[in-house]
Amino acid sequence: MNYKSLQNQIIEALPQLQCKKCEYPDCKSYAASLIEKNEKTNKCEPGGTETEAHIKSILSNQSFNLPKQIKQHHIADIVREECIGCTICIKVCPVDAIIGARHMIHKVLESQCNGCELCIDQCPVNCMSMIQTREQITWTWPSEQSEQSKKNYYRKIDRLDRIKKEKELNRQKILEDRDMDEYISYALEAESRKHQKIKKYE
Ligand code: SF4
Ligand code: SF4
Ligand code: SF4
Repeated sequence: MNYKSLQNQIIEALPQLQCKKCEYPDCKSYAASLIEKNEKTNKCEPGGTETEAHIKSILSNQSFNLPKQIKQHHIADIVREECIGCTICIKVCPVDAIIGARHMIHKVLESQCNGCELCIDQCPVNCMSMIQTREQITWTWPSEQSEQSKKNYYRKIDRLDRIKKEKELNRQKILEDRDMDEYISYALEAESRKHQKIKKYE
C-alpha cells in the first residue's frame, strides 16, 4: 500500500474532532506520525480502544468490523448571562462552531460543534460546559457529520492562512512605503544641499 492511501485509511479511522488530545494539532498529523514515526496507536482518547484496534488492523493490513462511534456524545454550551464576549472561544474552536462578536453574547452552533472540548478550559469566566442535547447524540465516523467537521476544520485553517499572508503583504507594503518615504526625504535633502553649494559659488 502506498503512503497516501495508508494515511487516508488511518485518517478515516479517526473521529475528526481535531481535539489535540493525541498531542498532535489534528487527526491528520497523528495519522502521519503513526506511519512515519511509529507513534503509539492508543493516543486517540475520544476514539478509545476500538480506534486503537482499527489503527492496528490497518497497519497490519487486516480487516476491521467494529463500529466507530462515541456514544453519549456531548457538545459545548454557553451560559448566556455570564458570557463577557471576550471571543477567546471563537479563536480556539477548530471548526467555527461558535458565533459572536467582541463584548456580545456568544452562542454555540449545536449542529456544528463536534464536542472536542477545546473551548471549555479557555473561557476566562467559566461559563462554558459540555452538555448532552435533548436527543442523545452518537458521533460516528466516517459519516456526513465527521466529513463536515473535517471540512470546517480545513476551511478555518485556509482562512487563517489567508489572513496571515494578507497581514504579511500589508506589513511588507508598509515597510516599502517607509523605505520610499525615507528615500524621497533623503533625495530632497541631497538636492537642497546641492543647491546650497551651488549658491556659494554664484
Ligand atoms: S480525534 Fe483523536 S486523532 Fe483526532 S485530534 Fe482528537 S485525539 Fe487526535
Ligand atoms: S464549540 Fe467548543 S467543543 Fe464545540 S467544536 Fe468548538 S471548541 Fe469544540
Ligand atoms: S470564552 Fe467564555 S466569556 Fe469569552 S466569549 Fe466565549 S463563552 Fe463568552
